[in-house]
Amino acid sequence: MNPSFPSLMQTQCTWSCHHEMLGALRSKSSSLFASSRHLLRQFAAGSGSRRPPSFAAMSTAATEKEASPNQKESAGKPLQVAKRLEKFKTTIFTQMSMLAIKHGAINLGQGFPNFDGPEFVKEAAIQAIRDGKNQYARGYGIPDLNSAIAARFKKDSGLVVDPETEVTVTSGCTEAIAATILGLINPGDEVILFAPFYDSYEATLSMAGADIKCITLRPPDFAVPINELRSAISKKTRAILMNTPHNPTGKMFTREELNEIASLCIENDVLVFSDEVYDKLAFEMDHISMASLPGMYDRTVTLNSLGKTFSLTGWKIGWAIAPPHLTWGVRQAHSFLTFATNTPGQWAAAAALRAPDSYYVELRRDYATKKQILVEGLKEAGFKVFPSSGTYFVVVDHTPFGLENDIAFCEFLIKEVGVVAIPTSVFYLNPEEGKNIVRFTFCKDEGTLRSAVERMKAKLKRT
Ligand code: GLN
Repeated sequence: MNPSFPSLMQTQCTWSCHHEMLGALRSKSSSLFASSRHLLRQFAAGSGSRRPPSFAAMSTAATEKEASPNQKESAGKPLQVAKRLEKFKTTIFTQMSMLAIKHGAINLGQGFPNFDGPEFVKEAAIQAIRDGKNQYARGYGIPDLNSAIAARFKKDSGLVVDPETEVTVTSGCTEAIAATILGLINPGDEVILFAPFYDSYEATLSMAGADIKCITLRPPDFAVPINELRSAISKKTRAILMNTPHNPTGKMFTREELNEIASLCIENDVLVFSDEVYDKLAFEMDHISMASLPGMYDRTVTLNSLGKTFSLTGWKIGWAIAPPHLTWGVRQAHSFLTFATNTPGQWAAAAALRAPDSYYVELRRDYATKKQILVEGLKEAGFKVFPSSGTYFVVVDHTPFGLENDIAFCEFLIKEVGVVAIPTSVFYLNPEEGKNIVRFTFCKDEGTLRSAVERMKAKLKRT
């Protein structure tokens, strides 16, 4: 990553297509927040057939072409997409990382470390390739990795699971989520999400034909409004899809909250799909797996991955742990989504998961330092910073700087300050609820974090 930021002049010269994208978002967003989130998403993508005339008038062929991920046509033919994916556009993470590169801004947006994973894990992958471990793996995981996952889960949660019948290796947690949803949810089933939610949840539920019910977690503590959850559960509710530690807020569900959710699930025969990919980045309290609560293992799919814990987000090794009767559905979907996950990566993942406890202690210590640099810096720059207990994210209230919403703020931040953050309104069914909040990540080296903080302290002015 190149942390240098071009002069304002250069920035403006290369800004056109993305300015158009974010400009459309900004100019439309206040009314959009009040109306349709789907329109907001179209504008967030910078394109789409229903964009307003003013936007069309601003476009040029060149900028349309430049904005290729969201173009409307290819070689003169309209782009096609099935209805179930029509409303989703290029993910906000991809958009913001493209902008970071284009404008030489420091990328505290998409959550990927700008440092490498551990040597011993990379060596294990290289060795596996050299040893000829290069053909299809067993569909649900090489035995060595299934065992390492079961052993790790026992250490972390106290639960003893059978690696052969209760662990499924997938191509990243995103595939584990998809296999779980597609393998266990029928069209018309209701699934409850907590907003703000990770973007793939909604898209994958849409692919499965699920009805989404949303419970909003509100700042400052993003606590679970248990009465709202109780009222949202109906006879049609099949599952709750949750995430702890929580992206984007950094909230960790407390034992009390988990107990309350658990008793509602048991009472109403509801499943829990629990995305716990940030479990090793728990700073303020211990991580609690939903599956470890009394009566919950039998109705829970625990989803996790290698990427965050070992700073190897591009390897895409994930897994789902569930009792055999739920694993059946997960595996049926997995078999026809990817069939198997890359073989040398699995051998290396098994080596990674056998890392001594000191690896995890060090990881947390390193991240605690990074977190402090960012959080203190954001406070000094004038943000209202909401407490983050886990993950490598922190959310802030940007309103002290007087911009009308999260999109406008992120545009300003890229263009005038040279830092990328993630607008959170795209993580809500009702974007209005996220309009004051933006997310920063601290999975970057300390120098990068300090430079970002310096830019913000120098250029952001409270109004
Ligand atoms: N999980 C990462 C984040 O929240 C993004 C992954 C992706 O780009 N799909 O930033």
